[in-house]
Amino acid sequence: MIREYPVRDVKPDEALVRITMSTICRSDIHSYKGHRPNPCPGILGHEIIGVIQQLGADITRDMRGDPLAVGDRVTWTEYFHHGQSAYRDIHDMPQKSPGVRKYGHDLVEDDPHFLGGFAEYCYILPGTGILKLPDAITDEEATPLNCGVATMISVTEAADIRMGDTVIVQGLGLLGLYGCAIAKARGARLVIGLDAVDQRLVAARKFGADETIDVTTLDDDALVENVRELCPPYGADVAMEVCGVASVVPNGIRMLRTGGRYVIGGLVNPGSDFTLDGNDILRKWITLKGVHNYHPRHLIQALDFVMSNRERFPFGDIVDSKFSLEELDEAFAKAAERSVLRAAIVP
Ligand SMILES: [Zn+2]
Repeated sequence: MIREYPVRDVKPDEALVRITMSTICRSDIHSYKGHRPNPCPGILGHEIIGVIQQLGADITRDMRGDPLAVGDRVTWTEYFHHGQSAYRDIHDMPQKSPGVRKYGHDLVEDDPHFLGGFAEYCYILPGTGILKLPDAITDEEATPLNCGVATMISVTEAADIRMGDTVIVQGLGLLGLYGCAIAKARGARLVIGLDAVDQRLVAARKFGADETIDVTTLDDDALVENVRELCPPYGADVAMEVCGVASVVPNGIRMLRTGGRYVIGGLVNPGSDFTLDGNDILRKWITLKGVHNYHPRHLIQALDFVMSNRERFPFGDIVDSKFSLEELDEAFAKAAERSVLRAAIVP
């Protein structure tokens, strides 16, 4: 439903952006369907880019130190946190500061109304990392930077992917496709993508996957055996869960060699239970990590990764459909049934 709210002048520590594109993330779909406790009515959407329309006097430079001005096209961290935080100041985890807020998660009635992607404007509030976009990057390449791409930069960093590694990517949605590409860019020798959807397996090949396996064609034991055979002599160095299905975790760990690393990046919903034998973790020296949200530096790295690999991987193809604000419901329906990979809203 489209509603109108007034746009006010920015405060000294705020910016006002005219949105040029926002994309529907999987988490927006969970909220849209009412599976997450989002305040309602609100403006969903946190993968957003736009052009600065008004800039508060206190904001002069972006995260990298480049000067910011009205008319600049920018992306920004999907979350913001203002005030003291031991997580930010002591533990270098600003993304987990208590009271951290995310764009696309507020009641639209509250000032300044515009804090989400599916609208004409968005305010950027204090505690947000702003990053200027180079002219060369297209809107389609730039919009997923501040959620999908930055998250995968964070996940692959946690996985500590090294030159020559063999890497398993469980799930080839947007996170998985970027995961394959980033793994290759980090020097992985072999990337194996696993999914149940044909077109995703095909897409993964374009994003760096050397091998893809349709998980519906094999039982668990055969799948693990297949993957291990592709990673001689003892199994894979790294596996990453980015499919949101808890039951894949034990299998992914079985695919690893002794000393392997496993990162959970997709189990964003509570109740994602799985069973592991702790003795396997111990004997195999497995490193198991969870990653939620990302550090501001990961957004800078996400932009640099896309800019330096845009000839190698067709990032622009991931945003494969565009809708107006009036067509938002249709866009959500298509995104939910996965008939589009990433639906973009162009106000
Ligand atoms: Zn997201």
